[in-house]
Amino acid sequence: MKVCLQTYGCQMNKLDTALVDSALKQAGFNLTDSVKDADVVLINTCSVREHAEQRVLSQLGHLKHIKESRPEMIVGVIGCMAQRLGEELLEHEAVNIVCGPIQIPKILSLITEAMNEKKKELAVSEKILKKSSDKENQALEEFESFYGLEEENIPSQAFVRVMRGCNNFCTYCIVPYVRGTEVCRPPEAIIEQIQKLANRGVKQVTLLGQTVNSYKYKQGEKTWSLADLLSAAGEIEGIQWLKFVTSYPSEEFFEDIMQVMADSEKVCKYLHIPAQSGSDKILKAMNRNYTAQWYLELLDKARAIVPGIAIAGDFIVGFPGETEEDFQATIDLVQKARYRNAFIFKYSPRPGTTADKRLEDTVPAEIKQRRNVELLAVQEKISDELSREFLGKEEIILVEGLSKKSHINSDDGKNHPQLVGRTETDYIVVFNCPVSLAGEFVKVKITRTSPLTLFGELAE
Ligand code: SAM
Ligand code: SF4
Repeated sequence: MKVCLQTYGCQMNKLDTALVDSALKQAGFNLTDSVKDADVVLINTCSVREHAEQRVLSQLGHLKHIKESRPEMIVGVIGCMAQRLGEELLEHEAVNIVCGPIQIPKILSLITEAMNEKKKELAVSEKILKKSSDKENQALEEFESFYGLEEENIPSQAFVRVMRGCNNFCTYCIVPYVRGTEVCRPPEAIIEQIQKLANRGVKQVTLLGQTVNSYKYKQGEKTWSLADLLSAAGEIEGIQWLKFVTSYPSEEFFEDIMQVMADSEKVCKYLHIPAQSGSDKILKAMNRNYTAQWYLELLDKARAIVPGIAIAGDFIVGFPGETEEDFQATIDLVQKARYRNAFIFKYSPRPGTTADKRLEDTVPAEIKQRRNVELLAVQEKISDELSREFLGKEEIILVEGLSKKSHINSDDGKNHPQLVGRTETDYIVVFNCPVSLAGEFVKVKITRTSPLTLFGELAE
């Protein structure tokens, strides 16, 4: 049996796909990159912006054509879009299985049933927004064996989910409606998983959560925070770098987390902490619970505790009611924050969210586009200045593998394969070096920079 897995969306989705990959391989399936060879096609979907959903729908149109000549092929839609559209998606001619993110651990039995019983399978959560009850927590424990599966797509690196869902309900965001409210995994399960990864030779672990810094797990008298998890994981021999994404701007545990970053050589000095807007009016309408000034002071705190920390952010431009003045406030914030990188998105109304129900999408598409380009240009200048500070310096990087493009080597004019890796502050570094070093730490001398990538040579 051959399975083709396709993924849209965030790191959380990539991790879910990697775990499905691992579960299916254990069950005897072979993986293929080609839909044409596949007996089963699983599409892991994203609902955060409309564009991501449209790409999935056009892929389903393509699969419908293929199924005309191979009707026995099973097509499953898994992840956020499956949860959001449920039955509606199951009615699509190409689709056999619809499975929400919380039900993904059941995917093997859903495939088997769809094949044997020749009927459509639906697995989504009905009351996804109820506060995580004991039953939900039990369900999570039931799935522990799935979350603990071993995956390693990048040599020596692994992602470990510490929680799922989100309690913040930012008014524009679909995440709580498709991934449910926050449920944290027990610390011992997380630490045991990291220990197993270390035993297998994994050197870098990234802890994942929608708001990973709000990780909280009560055990008797003690409440575990992300800072406690990082300290405990830092004790594990073999693990050399620990990263975590994404953080929500909140004071709870913030100083503790920053202090562990400052004190532990293993916790990488990188913080992804989206602001979303620099206008207090828009932040309020987004239900972000902070002001621009408070957010900037939080970044100052991080920089005071962890000198050299690299900070990244996310922004939404064109949120309902965003005026030129509000947009200017976002530009001001970006200039003051001096991010190493920022991800900028155009507001996309998501059905069922508070913003979509209560606020009109007032900013025209061309203004969203113009603001996106303008903000990117402001950030690119800052990223470029920060990158240039690396010129001539030697940086330790963890090698990921071959760079997607091989770059022309100016000395001999020939195309040489080049490798790519990342620094502890998450800068991408492209350099010449033998492929056998993938998964190893190396020292690279930086000889050229661009806003988002550093280029260099292996240092002696
Ligand atoms: N949990 C993370 C957080 O709060 O930062 C990331 C959540 S979301 C998957 C990633 C980013 O998508 C958000 O930070 C936000 O900038 C963007 N986003 C979410 N909903 C959006 C929407 N409706 N339109 C445009 N961008 C959106
Ligand atoms: Fe969405 Fe806000 Fe939760 Fe991030 S914090 S996942 S933007 S609701």
